[in-house]
Amino acid sequence: MPEVRRERLAQISDDIRGCRACVLHEGTRQAVPGEGNPDAEIMLIGEAPGQNEDVQGRPFVGASGQFLTEMLRQNGLRREDVFIANVVKHRPPSNRDPLPDEIEACASFLSRQIQAIDPLVIITLGRFSLARFFPGEKISQIHGQPRKIGGRTVIPLYHPAAALHQGALRKVLEADFATVPGIVDIARQAAGRTPRPPVPARADDPVQQAFGLLDPGADGPTGERHRSAPDDAPAPAPRPPRQLPLL
Ligand code: SF4
Repeated sequence: MPEVRRERLAQISDDIRGCRACVLHEGTRQAVPGEGNPDAEIMLIGEAPGQNEDVQGRPFVGASGQFLTEMLRQNGLRREDVFIANVVKHRPPSNRDPLPDEIEACASFLSRQIQAIDPLVIITLGRFSLARFFPGEKISQIHGQPRKIGGRTVIPLYHPAAALHQGALRKVLEADFATVPGIVDIARQAAGRTPRPPVPARADDPVQQAFGLLDPGADGPTGERHRSAPDDAPAPAPRPPRQLPLL
């Protein structure tokens, strides 16, 4: 089955590279079909390739891609374990929004990718992928709220690029992203799969710190115990000697 998936995805990527169904291919260096694990349980869907993606032919490789990869890492997920794609596969000129007829022309490629990968969980990033699964709804009202759609769990999230440009949105996206592992575990259990191993605690993890997920007594990855106080904090006062009971 993994081999079949791989072959199907390779065929879809070839079809995307040869596609001339809308004007978006004009003036681009190459198509950006998407990349990742063909057996991924999680599929992330963004909007459209930007300049860096157009140069490299890979999705989410610029600043927002680094931010996305870091959020995955902070939550115990690896980029190589998920699949990342966009709603449209060629870069719109000057990074303008893709037009409705362009999204429509490209829609079947995304459908085929979803069908081939058959992910348990889909994460939409930004309003254009949101519109595909939650038509007429607003990201500000439903972000971070998973819903069952077509037998899959779909989580609407803000786009990392938007979050990078607005500090308040960044906190919201990080908070929403921190719920992803738990949502995936619920989806796994519902599908009769074993839960993933727990996310390892890391002392330098701001998301886990923010959500109180760190166990201050747990061993860190280096085998050292997390410090509950900085090095220059005053030493605790010695305990008074225990009073022996009088006989
Ligand atoms: S954006 Fe999609 S529909 Fe348009 S040319 Fe590229 S692959 Fe084809």
